[in-house]
Amino acid sequence: MNASSTTTGITVLGSTGSIGLSTLDVIGQHPERFRIIALTANTQAAELAEQCVRFQPPYAVMADADAAQRLRGLLADRAPDTEVLAGEEALVQVAGLPEVDQVMAAIVGAAGLLPTLEAARRGKRVLLANKESLVMSGALFMRTVQDNGATLLPIDSEHNAIFQCLPDDYRAGQAPAGVRRILLTASGGPFRTLPIKQLHSVTPEQACAHPNWNMGRKISVDSATMMNKGLEVIEAGWLFGLDSAHIQVILHPQSLVHSLVEYDDGSMLAQMGNPDMRIPISHAMGWPQRISSGDSGLDLLAHGTLQFELPDRARFPCLQLAANAMQAGGTMPAILNAANEVAVAAFLAGQIPFTGIHRIIEETLARCTAHPADQLQVILDDDATARATTSELIMQSKVVMAQ
Ligand code: NAD
Ligand code: MG
Repeated sequence: MNASSTTTGITVLGSTGSIGLSTLDVIGQHPERFRIIALTANTQAAELAEQCVRFQPPYAVMADADAAQRLRGLLADRAPDTEVLAGEEALVQVAGLPEVDQVMAAIVGAAGLLPTLEAARRGKRVLLANKESLVMSGALFMRTVQDNGATLLPIDSEHNAIFQCLPDDYRAGQAPAGVRRILLTASGGPFRTLPIKQLHSVTPEQACAHPNWNMGRKISVDSATMMNKGLEVIEAGWLFGLDSAHIQVILHPQSLVHSLVEYDDGSMLAQMGNPDMRIPISHAMGWPQRISSGDSGLDLLAHGTLQFELPDRARFPCLQLAANAMQAGGTMPAILNAANEVAVAAFLAGQIPFTGIHRIIEETLARCTAHPADQLQVILDDDATARATTSELIMQSKVVMAQ
């Protein structure tokens, strides 16, 4: 906690997104405990303006310069003390300010990497929702956390569940003692039971209609392809110091058991709760204390039955692509992540079919060469090369589709 105040200073990166909104909901329930130092968004000036009027933060950042100009106009009368900054450097700056104790890393995709890394470099409590940054730069990120005394707490519901099931003195990055394996649960998304032949014609709206969670569009598509779970296996490997042989994915359509730890004595500990991200968010913000999240609690009797099954690897080829990238190591997970971001954006824009996502990622992985991932510039270069390769493949596939 910052020495100059009794409240915890927090920067919310990506405050207009799904995780950002849930974070502001939790903060709004604990005004005596948390003080917002900075709110950030990409282009949504009107949404960020309303948040600034409500929370009056010292800083607001728009990644987009034109949007920042709009925000300045919107705040001139209603939040005159909020300084509006623009661009990626400003995102990095507000993640590292001395008055910031906690940084909620809730930007989607690789755009979150530099500010999240900066929070680790400045020794903050990093509340990690942006799994892509850890997938891209796992070794570098964990070393930065360790070298700078940062505290890394997972927000992803599965990883937060596992963290809650580990001993109180467990810290991210250590190999947990006495653990046989961890089990990551997955809902299976909206297409778990759809006839496989119909997958090629599903629409972005269908893919984004997740049965249990209300999330941003990119992660919703990732859940539908199960690339989200593939990325989460890589994320879990770094967070919990485990190799892929000790991480199992199981389908659990109800999304009530958020993940499990199996110990050497055969005990399995699980964390359960409603599918409400305010639960892991408030857990990490209050840790090691428990604070209210606003969730009313899980009514087990209303649900009655819990199912568990193995994922169908033919239906969800992205799981294997992610496993291959994890196995290859180096910058291959960053290449996978970049290819996925570009392919998902193309699907959402109606440029490729749903089943094109995994085909284009697979081809990108085959064409790109991975390098050791201990330097940031190498990671960023391979990310850029992968994006260019994926875009080229999408262009070619559009030409083929048009013929
Ligand atoms: P979202 O799309 O709803 O919100 C993304 C936020 O990032 C917005 O505030 C947006 O303005 C900002 N943003 C987007 N592009 C940006 C850019 N280029 N530069 C700066 N800011 C940018 O996404 P979300 O669902 O809230 O997910 C955020 C992160 O949390 C993702 O990494 C996702 O994998 C992870 N996560 C989300 C959930 C969930 O329930 N939504 C659960 C687990 C993990
Ligand atoms: Mg998750």
